[in-house]
Amino acid sequence: MSKSPSESSQPSQTPPGSSPLGAAATFAEYAPALESSDIVNIAESYGLFIDGEFVETSSGERLITVNPATAEPLAEVAVAGEADVDRAVAAARRAYETAWGELAPSARGRYLFRIARLLQERAREFAVLESLDGGKPIRESRDVDIPLVAAHFFYYAGWADKLPYAVGAGVIPKPLGVAGQIVPWNFPLLMASWKIAPALAAGNTVVLKPAETTPLTALLLAEVLQEAELPPGVVNIVTGAGETGAALAAHRGVDKVAFTGSTEVGKLIRKSTARTGARLTLELGGKSAHVIFDDAPIDQAVEGVVRGIWFNQGHVCCAGSRLIVQETIAEEFVDRLTRRMRLLRVGDPLDKNTDVGAINSREQLDKIVDLVDAGVADGADLITSDCELPEQGWFFRPTILNNVATSNRVAVEEIFGPVLTVMTFRTPEEAIAKANATRYGLAAGVWTADGARILWMAQRLRAGVVWANTYNQFDPTSPFGGMRQSGFGREGGRHGLAAYLNCVPMDSLAAGPIDRMAPATTSRPDGGRS
Ligand code: NDP
Repeated sequence: MSKSPSESSQPSQTPPGSSPLGAAATFAEYAPALESSDIVNIAESYGLFIDGEFVETSSGERLITVNPATAEPLAEVAVAGEADVDRAVAAARRAYETAWGELAPSARGRYLFRIARLLQERAREFAVLESLDGGKPIRESRDVDIPLVAAHFFYYAGWADKLPYAVGAGVIPKPLGVAGQIVPWNFPLLMASWKIAPALAAGNTVVLKPAETTPLTALLLAEVLQEAELPPGVVNIVTGAGETGAALAAHRGVDKVAFTGSTEVGKLIRKSTARTGARLTLELGGKSAHVIFDDAPIDQAVEGVVRGIWFNQGHVCCAGSRLIVQETIAEEFVDRLTRRMRLLRVGDPLDKNTDVGAINSREQLDKIVDLVDAGVADGADLITSDCELPEQGWFFRPTILNNVATSNRVAVEEIFGPVLTVMTFRTPEEAIAKANATRYGLAAGVWTADGARILWMAQRLRAGVVWANTYNQFDPTSPFGGMRQSGFGREGGRHGLAAYLNCVPMDSLAAGPIDRMAPATTSRPDGGRS
């Protein structure tokens, strides 16, 4: 069992007990309110979910998934090799050709509605398991992740028999075939739902690869799919590490790959799909800017920044991780933000009082520590929360790196942890230049009372999503995705369906196949023949 290195690596700004917050900090100390984990029944060992059943791997290889809040093992999970991925893709192809592809669109919709309802019925179980396996606070898995998962299934269920309206006039929507979907550990079930629900609504079948450190809710979803009597092979789940994902992305039986994760792995997947010709959408990393003007409502903006960077321990691809604040209010803003940050409770993810849970893995914690050290070495001012950290598991205090320069490592690299970097600006042009000084382009936030300025900024910010006077708002009806090294393609909304459809022009079907050798039948006004 490991202890958090962050105990020693995060110097406290103020000794406990002499906090300048005084009464406020005392007021914020609540008695523990633990969510019981009794509702979850975790098996000792899990197989792969292929063709509607849990099956063993051909190699017998296994990995252990741990609870990041205690560093203790939760379960053993099968590691799918190339032969297993091949089996899963074959099952998905069979299901596409014999069951799912033949089904009336309204029947597909009924299955999706059924899955959505079962997810709602078992929501508490899913929420507890997500927090146990991933380390996120139960309040977030209970109130954000799992309700959004069900909402995505409900939303796309409604589209299943209305696809022609989703793609517009003049084209006929056709499914692509088998979709290979690879998801990360920060929103394990939510990312799975963003991918599975539109793929199935559009008539495709799926092979899903969950992240190595958070496979358990995907395996619980497999039980829900069995309960919903989804035809075997429509959704297959292959657990394992990076090699399993690589085998799936490179498989020639896969027609479409959807990936969420790091930019580095996204580049590898792009090479694989260039070889196989599979369609591709990539949702990659980010270093999103949160721009605060001096006319912004400061208290709301502080809350927006808190939500932008400390939600889910900062393990969010679109986290507002770079605060760019107008110089005239910078000192006051950082003071207020520091006060608010020091009220955040870090601790047991199953405690309903917890605001910031556990870091997902030891590797991720080491990466955060390394980057914060680099920021301090580059000259940033370190401001941390002075809360106590649990003795077991992997935790990191909410942290601000103030007075960061655009050339510093922490200003350009994705930290993927509860760490905010702060820079200032004087003019809107400077704010744009600083916000766009990144290889990424996933999201941005703007806070100002001036509506025209919001539009001016939104036109110039190079980001797939721009939130105005809010942050981290998600809804199944809204498309989400990036530009530049944050990837391409959209998930959510009608755009999310388009990623799983081949839109065939209606004319090409009505006219039948083109015979290029046939004599021309129309004469041109100039007497020539075509
Ligand atoms: P990865 O990109 O490595 O993982 C994402 C998914 O891809 C996981 O299921 C992973 O499996 C799988 N995978 C890993 N290697 C390959 C490969 N060669 N081919 C196909 N699939 C592969 O992210 P990490 O988990 O390693 O996190 C590293 C960094 O990535 C984070 O620190 C963060 O900066 C960023 N990240 C960004 C996310 C986002 O939402 N934009 C989400 C997660 C991470 P496995 O888990 O088994 O390795």
